[in-house]
Amino acid sequence: MIKAANLKVGYDNNIVVDGFGFTLEKGEIVSLIGPNGSGKSTILKVLSRLMAKQGGAVYLDGYDIHKLPTKEVAKKLSALSQYNVSPPDFTVEELVWYGRLPHRKWYACQSSADEEIVWWAIKQTRLEKLSHRTVNSLSGGERQRAWIAMALAQKTEVLLLDEPTTYLDISHQLEVMELISGLNKEFGITIIMVLHDLNQAARYSHRLLVIKEGRIFAEGAPEKVLTKEMLRHVYHVEAEVALDRRIGKPVFYPLGISCAQTEARRRGTFV
Ligand code: ADP
Repeated sequence: MIKAANLKVGYDNNIVVDGFGFTLEKGEIVSLIGPNGSGKSTILKVLSRLMAKQGGAVYLDGYDIHKLPTKEVAKKLSALSQYNVSPPDFTVEELVWYGRLPHRKWYACQSSADEEIVWWAIKQTRLEKLSHRTVNSLSGGERQRAWIAMALAQKTEVLLLDEPTTYLDISHQLEVMELISGLNKEFGITIIMVLHDLNQAARYSHRLLVIKEGRIFAEGAPEKVLTKEMLRHVYHVEAEVALDRRIGKPVFYPLGISCAQTEARRRGTFV
């Protein structure tokens, strides 16, 4: 579905991702995890072509994504950033209609097929009663659902989400995670996202990709990847990891910052 080979990405002369290779299979939920500044958002941006690469390639269904016309890319993947901003007076319904743009000719009127898809997206995100409200008047959780509805209306096979639960309280975080998981189960939408909450990443993903300093440190099923050793090496945190039998996934309990990190902080250096 999406394949990245030997990717090199940076900002001016500062290379922040180097030698990144990865394949996203159809129907998967993959989460990128790793410390702040490790390059997760940069990877997501280059996979969705929002950012240019300085080396390597990204293939979408076998085609070099950086050579495909924008509309073709937008028909296959939709991407939401952490900082989605809609025009101030846009209603939810108007925002969701935006998702249909890649599928319409500039001269074409809104068709009933488009309308059906827009309302399907609004229904999936349970926004029917809020469809006439302006996006800016919604709560954080509702607003995030509105953006996901817009992405759904694009009717793509892949969804790329950068920290979809940022700024949400725990119940709204779970609501968004359940929505994402449901879209994957019910409609087979392939999902790749950046998540900060490691337990949520383990619970809702088929596969985790641990990013450290712009490279893959570990990858695989959550029970393989979410380990004490990984948490120590990547996050400098001592933790217990146990299998939660109710969900069959690992959960971690942080115990404290690792000794090496504490010592480094005391000396004013960082590990
Ligand atoms: P993460 O998502 O893991 O927190 P990012 O991909 O946002 O990491 O950032 C990786 C590195 O790239 C960081 O060192 C960050 O400072 C740098 N970076 C990110 N965005 C920009 C930008 N627009 N201009 C310059 N440097 C940037």
